[in-house]
Amino acid sequence: MSIVVKVEEKLFQNRYKVDSGRPHISILDEDKCRNDCRERACIVCCPAGCWTMEGNGGVTVISDGCLECGTCRIICDEHRNVEWEYPRGGYGILFKFG
Ligand code: SF4
Ligand code: SF4
Repeated sequence: MSIVVKVEEKLFQNRYKVDSGRPHISILDEDKCRNDCRERACIVCCPAGCWTMEGNGGVTVISDGCLECGTCRIICDEHRNVEWEYPRGGYGILFKFG
């Protein structure tokens, strides 16, 4: 008998410690997202759903829940518009494997 486990169920086992007021990911130039980026790949690439499209064509990122995979930074290579660093020690994702 095989047991199927969904990614969402695995992610639910992780915990995240928020560093209030100190997001570790930010957008350098929001106008660039709105006006110069057609793909907006950051929105679809993030496994944690941290990136969202706004009604005005802009993009927002809320790094709470970020898995620290770095994909958003890599995928914005053409525009280099993502400021990315690891959270301070003791904050961020706490992975649980079970
Ligand atoms: S991929 Fe980069 S430039 Fe494009 S919307 Fe996302 S952060 Fe902005
Ligand atoms: S590092 Fe990964 S999980 Fe975190 S916001 Fe970027 S794509 Fe999402």
